[in-house]
Amino acid sequence: MERTMIGETPGLIGQVVKLQGWVNIRRDHGKLIFIDLRDRSGKIQMVIIPDKEEAHKAAKEIRGEYIIEVEGLVKARPGGAKNEKLPTGGVEIEVEKLNIISKPEVELPIDVSTEDLNLNLDTLLDNRTIALRNDKIKSIFRIYSELLRSYAEVMNQAGFTEIKTPKILNAATEGGANFFKIKYFEQDAFLAQSPQFYKQAMAGVFERVFEIGPLFRAEPHFTTRHVNEFIGLDGEMAFVDSFEDVMAQLEKIMILVMASIAKNCQADLEKYEAQILPVEKIPRMKLTEALDILDKEYGKKMEEVDIDAEGERMICDWVKKNHNCDFVFLTHYPTSIRPFYSMPSADPQYTETFDLLFMGVEIASGGQRIHDYNQLVASMQKHKLNPEDFKHYLDIFKYGIPPHGGWGLGSERIVQKILGLGSIKEAILFPRDVKRLTP
Ligand code: ATP
Repeated sequence: MERTMIGETPGLIGQVVKLQGWVNIRRDHGKLIFIDLRDRSGKIQMVIIPDKEEAHKAAKEIRGEYIIEVEGLVKARPGGAKNEKLPTGGVEIEVEKLNIISKPEVELPIDVSTEDLNLNLDTLLDNRTIALRNDKIKSIFRIYSELLRSYAEVMNQAGFTEIKTPKILNAATEGGANFFKIKYFEQDAFLAQSPQFYKQAMAGVFERVFEIGPLFRAEPHFTTRHVNEFIGLDGEMAFVDSFEDVMAQLEKIMILVMASIAKNCQADLEKYEAQILPVEKIPRMKLTEALDILDKEYGKKMEEVDIDAEGERMICDWVKKNHNCDFVFLTHYPTSIRPFYSMPSADPQYTETFDLLFMGVEIASGGQRIHDYNQLVASMQKHKLNPEDFKHYLDIFKYGIPPHGGWGLGSERIVQKILGLGSIKEAILFPRDVKRLTP
């Protein structure tokens, strides 16, 4: 008999099916044994009556997290779906045969059958492979999966070619100190902090490219929004007139990705009581305007033209109140705090760059890049970088490239914020932070 998925059972009343999955919980009522079984499609109640002697004997042995296979009759459940949120709440399985496929050798350290695990972050992460079996936690990663899927889909639809670029580099991409140095045979190498140079090069080849890939930052952060390895959703596009084109494209992407998650992950979002506000237009303001608002409305003064985490939270709060939007673009960051490849504005103290904030945190940085060889060399020198260290990068410009721009979008912060998770680490299967390299 072929395996049936639990999610299909409501349409199969009166039929005998074979199910495989994990025992969520076993409950005995007198001689009746009830087992909640789950597979990737859902959860269902099964009943084992004493008359089915062999199955009943096997069922008595069963505990939570046993992996079993059953054959049984799909029956309408007395009481129907009224008191159950599950789509399968209206049916149950009367088990005829039951086999144990695999079972834990030892007691599980945590009980994953409860709705909320209520564990502290370290316990949750130390017992990660088990904790991930919990329904509510699995929802995080179904939403994450939908984010990756829909990002790739909308990027493809917008004419972007998906690329993968190397993560082991011979030089730290953008200089600075936040790179990991590794041994690479006879020489030193560095883990990529961003795909910046490669995606720019490929914008000069394919016009529009995107990459979904791991990025490494060696910053010793202890915040709720930083980890040392994360997945970037990068995009780069050629033939732009200005960085407004780049923002407009990213805005379209966010509108579509948010709509996909809202549409395709309803049940997962509900578990977190998370609501995705439909996005139509993302407000834009200059960083200096944002700083004025912080000063006037929140009494917060920044010493330089820059914004910190608290300021980002406040601006998002202000935008939510005044524009009913969870997103905002801040634009025209000063040259001094942007990378050397950023296109200067008409007023060269500022750059044609932006950050995209979402529900209180920065989720993306982007802008137009300098595409003129001589201008780029001059900008490197201004940033105290040696052009000779960037030979391969400069080749891209030496041989000509269209005006272009793009963004680096962090994936995990998006899911963290949508679901209101306390830490970004909850939105990562196996997070890497300053202290954590396992599991
Ligand atoms: P922040 O100012 O928040 O430290 P950043 O300015 O270093 O971020 P960028 O280098 O502009 O970030 O990277 C683009 C995006 O990548 C960020 O907006 C964020 O979504 C994500 N990102 C960057 N660093 C991290 C990190 N350490 N952990 C998780 N996500 C990150």
